[in-house]
Amino acid sequence: MSNELREIRINPIVPTESVLVSTARGLRPRKDEKPLVMGTDSRIAECPFCKGNEDKTPPTLVSWPNEENWSIRIVENLFPVLSNKQQTQSLSFGLQHVIDGYGRHEVVIDHDNHSIHIDHMSQEHIQALFKIYRDRMQFLYGTDARIKYVLVFKNFGPAAGASIAHTHSQIVAMPVVPENVANELYHSHIHFQKFNQNIFSHLVDEALTFEATIYDRDSGEVRRKIDVGQYVIEKTKRFIAIKPFASRFEWEVQIFPLFPQADYLECSDEDLEDFALLVKRTMRRLNNVIGGAQYNYFLHSIPHGDEFNKHRDSYLWHLEICPRTSIPTGFELGSGLFVSTVSPEDAAKRLRDVEIN
Ligand SMILES: [Zn+2]
Ligand SMILES: [Zn+2]
Repeated sequence: MSNELREIRINPIVPTESVLVSTARGLRPRKDEKPLVMGTDSRIAECPFCKGNEDKTPPTLVSWPNEENWSIRIVENLFPVLSNKQQTQSLSFGLQHVIDGYGRHEVVIDHDNHSIHIDHMSQEHIQALFKIYRDRMQFLYGTDARIKYVLVFKNFGPAAGASIAHTHSQIVAMPVVPENVANELYHSHIHFQKFNQNIFSHLVDEALTFEATIYDRDSGEVRRKIDVGQYVIEKTKRFIAIKPFASRFEWEVQIFPLFPQADYLECSDEDLEDFALLVKRTMRRLNNVIGGAQYNYFLHSIPHGDEFNKHRDSYLWHLEICPRTSIPTGFELGSGLFVSTVSPEDAAKRLRDVEIN
């Protein structure tokens, strides 16, 4: 496959709108793909990620609890968006600025049970999964100085872009810091310089405590009651799940640590035990309210490298969960403005009130 192209192209007008051109993805089987139905089978004979079919995937890189009796397994992605097979040097010509698509792309088979939803996994299993993410991120940052960011994400369900039904997540080690993360770093740093305050922690504090009533200056009538506590979905000792006040996706939920920590890699095993419980309960709420959520989740953490040290006080790592209940339309693509048909306050209330046991 000598004509495979993997490069990040920078939009010369709006540099933040870069595109990853990765033609190998187009080679994925498509015509023969059956529409994905979220089933209840624990094992499917022809599924490459099911037990007994290990020879249908590249070799195991990491497994838990052990290779023979694995419940979680990491393998290389057969159709990587980025690859460590260096092809070309980064070239720029005129307005065409290109960064070589160097990196790694791995698949985490989240569970040996084909159809299991994350909220049905044990807390211990979810903890192991998030530990494996952490340890693999650490490993990938350590392998190559050209890797600027390691993104962990999960697509669950066809509406979320999952092309294999077996529950799995992915790790992409990239030669650039993704624009979403760069924007968060930039704006939180500006906020810190202005107010000497971590904006993420401030958001969490507000979510926990802030309540206010705004009165009309002339009539004295109540104009708006603000109860920011209404955005809290779930809370454990060390973490909190919040429905953001302004979120792109109707049922989007974000999980933050309740302690200052910019780097996910610094999370302890005990932290992740608590985190796993929060993820399990939050996902159960989403599933019960939406009815079998199809979603993307991804981890945002401070990138590695000395140039990011100045962000350590202003940033907080987090998990963003984006259930996919609608498809972005021309309006969203044309304006960059996402439309939400449910008010975040209402969504938060429904998620908080739903029965989960
Ligand atoms: Zn399977
Ligand atoms: Zn984020």
